[in-house]
Amino acid sequence: MKNALISRNAASSSPRRETSACGLRIGGFEPFSTVDYPGRLAAVIFCQGCPLRCGYCHNPDLIPVRPTGSLSFEDVLSAIDLRKGFLDAVVFSGGEPLAQGAVIPAMTAIRRHGFELGLHTAGTNPAMLEATLPLVSWVGFDVKAPFDGYHGVTGVDAGAKARRSLEILVKSGVPFEVRTTVWPERIGKSEICMITSMLREMGVRRYALQEARTPGRKRCPGGEALDDAAFISGTAAMFEEFEVRRAS
Ligand code: SF4
Repeated sequence: MKNALISRNAASSSPRRETSACGLRIGGFEPFSTVDYPGRLAAVIFCQGCPLRCGYCHNPDLIPVRPTGSLSFEDVLSAIDLRKGFLDAVVFSGGEPLAQGAVIPAMTAIRRHGFELGLHTAGTNPAMLEATLPLVSWVGFDVKAPFDGYHGVTGVDAGAKARRSLEILVKSGVPFEVRTTVWPERIGKSEICMITSMLREMGVRRYALQEARTPGRKRCPGGEALDDAAFISGTAAMFEEFEVRRAS
């Protein structure tokens, strides 16, 4: 998932306590983003911890399950409240937000404070996805590889859970997009063809291909898949909405 802007100074202390959400492990906070929730100005909470080990992960600091640090949920909530009237939404990103049970009370608190909710997930926990969807207005869902080929990209056999999660998401009616990070070492044209035909069968309508960034935020060009205009136009024709996102 995307880079976390660690802005500990942006969050101020508050006497208010959202006790049930206090255990949320937060690795970063971005107070204003125009790119994490389509059409909304959103704050982004980067949850700490991820069960995947994507070979291209540009933000490996968010992978370890560390205890809650100096950036607490109550501080982040106070920082969000200060921006009421400017912010439309709050996005839970990661890491993997659905790896933490505390994300449910945290999302409930954010909703109670009057914000729409977005979620970025790789679908590693179908039960948690099902539990959070009633709170969420939009989901950005990462499909990392063909479902039977997750290990080569993520280091974990997480494809069956990702497939189950996507089935739940499609059925829920919550608006969403699916995106795949193009990592030419493992994800090229043939893998993208396998992914897109699976997505079509499952009823996915919005899809994006995005270039990877490697550790150090170095751009990893999408290679022949993204440079082939005919291939891209054939992929676009399979979906109602399609986008290629180049890393700047
Ligand atoms: S899902 Fe992959 S890219 Fe995103 S934080 Fe986890 S290991 Fe990194």
